[in-house]
Amino acid sequence: DLYGPSRRNSLGMDLSIADTRQVLETAVAALDGQLLDAGPIVSGRMAPPARPEERVSPADLARVVGRAWSSTPEQVDAAYVAARHAQPRWDARGGEGRAQVLRAMADTLEANRERLIAICAVEAGKTLADGVAEVREAADFCRYYASLAERQFAAPETLRGPVGETNRLSLHGRGVFACISPWNFPLAIFTGQIAAALAAGNAVVAKPAEQTPLIAAEAVRLYHAAGLDPDLLHLLPGDGAGVGQQLVAHRDCAGVAFTGGTDTAWAINRTLAARNGPIVPFIAETGGLNAMFVDTTALREQVIDDVLTSAFGSAGQRCSALRMLFVPHDTADQLIEGLAGAMDTLVLGDPADPATDIGPVIDEDARGALQAHVERLRQEAKLWRQLPAPDGGCFFGPALAEIPSAAFLQKEVFGPILHVVRYDPNRLEAAAAPLRAAGYGLTLGVHSRIEAFAADVQRAVPAGNAYVNRSMIGAVVGVQPFGGEGLSGTGPKAGGPHALLRYAVERAVSVNI
Ligand code: GLU
Repeated sequence: DLYGPSRRNSLGMDLSIADTRQVLETAVAALDGQLLDAGPIVSGRMAPPARPEERVSPADLARVVGRAWSSTPEQVDAAYVAARHAQPRWDARGGEGRAQVLRAMADTLEANRERLIAICAVEAGKTLADGVAEVREAADFCRYYASLAERQFAAPETLRGPVGETNRLSLHGRGVFACISPWNFPLAIFTGQIAAALAAGNAVVAKPAEQTPLIAAEAVRLYHAAGLDPDLLHLLPGDGAGVGQQLVAHRDCAGVAFTGGTDTAWAINRTLAARNGPIVPFIAETGGLNAMFVDTTALREQVIDDVLTSAFGSAGQRCSALRMLFVPHDTADQLIEGLAGAMDTLVLGDPADPATDIGPVIDEDARGALQAHVERLRQEAKLWRQLPAPDGGCFFGPALAEIPSAAFLQKEVFGPILHVVRYDPNRLEAAAAPLRAAGYGLTLGVHSRIEAFAADVQRAVPAGNAYVNRSMIGAVVGVQPFGGEGLSGTGPKAGGPHALLRYAVERAVSVNI
């Protein structure tokens, strides 16, 4: 039962409780002086280090967190061979059998949550609150897809047909899925893509983002510890152009699940189009140029709160994050002033400190690109405010800028930079036109007490996830199925009732006696 009491989302951890904070502090301290390893894990065995690279923490560039090494073409081949052979047995276990393993994985994640949260903090610079959310969402994906597998992949469906003939329709795994995941949700999305592919009856070869292989290796070990046959899930770290390309081009690749940038999605699409093999589905969840529209009826305090959360939470490194805020001419000055003032309350710093609101951005490249964008804003638009950033890590001060129109920004800028646009709510269509032209369609926010206005905004700016009078990040599995359209992705939505269908093939059998 997807919606009933038998499936509930993970409870997470309450960071307002001192004991909880203490437990996490201990888990972070336990990683001190420990070097984590991430190399290719093929059939449960990690390949010995070959030209390992040191991984440093984005929160402290002097801190080495672990070592990672890339997969060789032979390891990719070996993973595909083992996965291809194991997959039919897994498919034959049916939805119920697979659900058991996924539920065991959810429990295993929760049993190890402190360590996972600590690794997210040191490897990916995620705040403790964001780390708690990572583990919750990863466990939620496993349980939700387990429920879907039971419901949609159980007994074949009997269809109506002529007398004397039985017609049955069933769903099966496609084979070996390549799952390619991002660094911004290094545990939740990594685990979730794999859970979806497995739930539908596939085996998986998984490539984590180059920035976050350590937490991915941990997740793969936990899948195996939870009872998953190691031949069904292999970890293949490496770069996109080499290992990613090889995974997608491989003749045994039966489908690709990808979350990341739109440019990479295009590259994967091209590789799939050039293959002379089976024609396979491509499930992509990519970027967004997400806007929030405020009208004069909105409650200012609530707007400020929700804007800060949506634009600067997780250092703006969510594809759902707010990038462009449309404020009515009449109240714009007040609102901008209010936002600039409220920004001062944000605490930037060590992600492992419970007092921190905003940790670092992921790496030097990301910080450099954001800095270049702020320079452009300073010169060609108006920079209202930028918070100072601490030294020592890849910290980047959240920035508030005003741009002349939505046409100024046509591509996603991935970080804590909010662009304000003044507009006339009576000329909504005109203000939104450049946004539509940019072609994304991920999240959308509205702050208004007029229902008809909220509906107008949704018509003017098509988006996969719209949020009215609240923040626009943090979609909850089973509650806000997540994913966009256009340049933002293909669907089906992660954490929604249709999530598994593109991971599967349908087979119809008609029998006449
Ligand atoms: N699902 C996340 C959210 O609702 C965003 C996922 C992403 O950034 O890829 O905030």
